Amino acid sequence: MAYIKVMLFYLIGLICGIITLAMAVDQTVGWMPPTLSGLVTFLFIYLAGPATSDTAYVAPNAHKDEEEAAPTTLPATEKTPQNSALSTNDSGRLIYQIPPVEKTANGYLLNPGTTFQLTLATESKEIAQAVRERIDHYENGEWLEKAPLAPVLARYQVHCLEIDAYIKTHKKPFKDSLTSLIANSPEWENAKKNDKNYMMSEFIDKAIQSLPIRLSSDIAPLLQDLPDTKGLDEMIINSHGKEAHEIYMPYAAHIEKIMQVSDNDKLVIQHMKKLVNANLCLQGADIPQSVLLQQLTMTDLSELIADCNIHEKAKSKSDAISLLDGAKGVSGKLVNMLPLNELYYLIPPKGLTKKVRDLQVSWQYYDALAKLMKGTYSVARTNTFRLITAPEGEKLRWEVKSCDDCADCESLQLIYEHSPPQPPLHVGCQCLIFWHTAAEG
Ligand SMILES: [Zn+2]
Repeated sequence: MAYIKVMLFYLIGLICGIITLAMAVDQTVGWMPPTLSGLVTFLFIYLAGPATSDTAYVAPNAHKDEEEAAPTTLPATEKTPQNSALSTNDSGRLIYQIPPVEKTANGYLLNPGTTFQLTLATESKEIAQAVRERIDHYENGEWLEKAPLAPVLARYQVHCLEIDAYIKTHKKPFKDSLTSLIANSPEWENAKKNDKNYMMSEFIDKAIQSLPIRLSSDIAPLLQDLPDTKGLDEMIINSHGKEAHEIYMPYAAHIEKIMQVSDNDKLVIQHMKKLVNANLCLQGADIPQSVLLQQLTMTDLSELIADCNIHEKAKSKSDAISLLDGAKGVSGKLVNMLPLNELYYLIPPKGLTKKVRDLQVSWQYYDALAKLMKGTYSVARTNTFRLITAPEGEKLRWEVKSCDDCADCESLQLIYEHSPPQPPLHVGCQCLIFWHTAAEG
């Protein structure tokens, strides 16, 4: 927008120049009516104002990414990033492109030159680039997730060294704390399965809170044992396709469970249809009858038994289901009892029925890993951008805003005159830095 205004500004200036020149050459041109003259002046002033002040204007606390004035030179710091990584996008906004992946002795740096470098433990540049593409994709003025990161991490079973270090330090204290919470719970022993699940999620939260560096509970799967699933993701890709593998993974918790998807959930329906085509999902009447019968209440099952002229009595739900499963007339009646069109049932990948639990645990792990990598990467990018775009030669005040999940960084929440901290200070750290000029007070 500012660019168009600048162009119009010059155009109006050119018109005024031509008119002035024409008036000097030929007196008859002097007829330009006052209204037109006024209009030209108005446009001139209107366009001149914002167009010339846009680039220099920095609203207080408005130091957001890609919206700042062009940088001068860098503050001298140990981790000084490369200035060449700055560029301007189509709408004239400044963007910071992290330099390409870089080989090190232990793998590949995914974000060289930033305030927190993440190392992917791989010898393969192709894998490093595939991960980088998914963690850092800029399009239409936004950083977007072009495709999910977790499936690539799972497929190649790649790790991030900095996150491995966090896991190494925190796994034992986490497990010890969890064991002690369970041992000290009087209700645990006799609790029902559902109650145990609920209690366990509370214990996990507590155990994470007891760690030296506390991250959100989303990272709990990283602190659990990772089963050996080497090669399994590749098998799924070979049998069902790469797209199906990526779609299937986030729904892993629903494998062998009925999912009811309403017409409004367009995206989920789209996913389910693709999984049906890839032989990873059954829909409606194709779902095994015993599974569909599980959806009915005991009252409905008893009525169905009577309707189908079965004269035996069912003592329990499982009794009722075994009486009804495959009996004459059941499928016809189920059509009226269940919303079959809305029901989907994810099935295990080909040849991997016995590996479903391992895959679920492994995918939760890679999902948590992807989240932690993306969060750390993004905070490092933002802070690096702020460091390299801070105006030089001006007295700046730096401020660190730490977040709720980052209890260990709370002490950083100060004002700095010199050498600001350069978060993230650890994986998952969400501290952001801001600079203020003296004029802002
Ligand atoms: Zn922090």
